[in-house]
Amino acid sequence: MTKLLLPVCLLMAPIAGAQQSALPVFCGNEALNYIVQNNYPDLHQTFQTSFEENLHRQPASDRSPATIRVVVHVVWKNPEENLADSIILNQIAVLNEDYNRENPDTANLRPAFQAVAGNPQVHFELVEIVRVQTSATFELDLNNNEILTNLKKSSLGGSDAWDPTAYLNIWICKIQPITFGGLTIGQILGFAFPPNNLNHWPANSSAPSLDQDGVALDFRIIGRNNPNTVEIPGGTGNLTVRGRTATHEVGHYLGLRHIWGDGGFLGLPNDCNQSDGMDDTPFASAQSPFDCDKNRNSCTKVEAFYGMDMPDLIENYMDYSSESCMNMFTQNQAAMIQTVLAGPRNGLLQVSADKSPELADAQPQLFPNPTRGDVWLRIPANWNPRAIELLSLDGRLVQRLPAPAAGESQLIINTQNLAPGGYAVRVQTAGQVWMERLVVLR
Ligand SMILES: [Zn+2]
Repeated sequence: MTKLLLPVCLLMAPIAGAQQSALPVFCGNEALNYIVQNNYPDLHQTFQTSFEENLHRQPASDRSPATIRVVVHVVWKNPEENLADSIILNQIAVLNEDYNRENPDTANLRPAFQAVAGNPQVHFELVEIVRVQTSATFELDLNNNEILTNLKKSSLGGSDAWDPTAYLNIWICKIQPITFGGLTIGQILGFAFPPNNLNHWPANSSAPSLDQDGVALDFRIIGRNNPNTVEIPGGTGNLTVRGRTATHEVGHYLGLRHIWGDGGFLGLPNDCNQSDGMDDTPFASAQSPFDCDKNRNSCTKVEAFYGMDMPDLIENYMDYSSESCMNMFTQNQAAMIQTVLAGPRNGLLQVSADKSPELADAQPQLFPNPTRGDVWLRIPANWNPRAIELLSLDGRLVQRLPAPAAGESQLIINTQNLAPGGYAVRVQTAGQVWMERLVVLR
């Protein structure tokens, strides 16, 4: 059987640049579905499959927050692609805000939608940053049904996934402009595969092989503190990078579809008949063109859930709005995420559960080590450190470090002003002392 690649979850826009600024905005789905429609005509019918998942609708207060352990692979060729730890940590912080409705812009949601805002209650815990220097380039090759496969294979210049059933793997690289038929037609900013066998997704939408499961992102759209970020015009607006391409792509990874129902595929019209399977995301005829038009109402029909016609929900993370006006998932989307974590992606949670007996004996963790930049020190929640210190190897105090902020278990050690060489990080509590050697490289 021909290997099916169904990258229906690409966020795509032109990246601003002298030679690319005139590119038209293309929906990645539209171009990429060419593969699917040509090879799998039966899929056409499944796009309109009604949503039948048995959503976990328990009140938020009754749910346990889920923790997903994340491995970030930075696969870089040019130095600017080798993002500093601080940028990656910032991206993880954005995910934690957005997936716990702790983002600072929730008040920007229009009042008519405040009641349907959902909280997925997912916590992302960064466990490792894997860095791979490469000479490879990474592109979506429509002519060969190829979708950055080499990014995920160390034998091809990429980085191998950590066990995808236990970890969310996020690969960061420079994604080349997308070409088709010899023409450069746009730029994808990221993509992710949903889990398999969800009724509201077409069959065979999931990763073509387990080792490709995860999220791939372009290095320019990571975090809110990324010096490589460029303004990305598209449609009538501007992407305005706020780290939310990752929020969007992780949404796909956790089972969410685009709120306009992915109309616009070749063979499917951009119209009001496509659904994302969520009854609390109003119908939209097409994706938002990277803008913040709160007056857009592309489908003027009564929404059964609301009992009235509602405007397009441009604040939703699963649209293509400007990231500056995205600020919410809906309650059904949050329930879908919980359903997926209880179902096809429950291996992610089992790691945390399996680890729980060890947590009582957990030790602080320091990484990356050796380092060329920031170092992340994670301290077990029950430690209550009295002193955190950076020492020279002969025991002299180099720097006293602040305790993590309330409710936090991690802090960042900035090594920019340290001479290269060996140091020791010491954490003292009332009853114990932990110490680990730290190597600073330049
Ligand atoms: Zn998408």
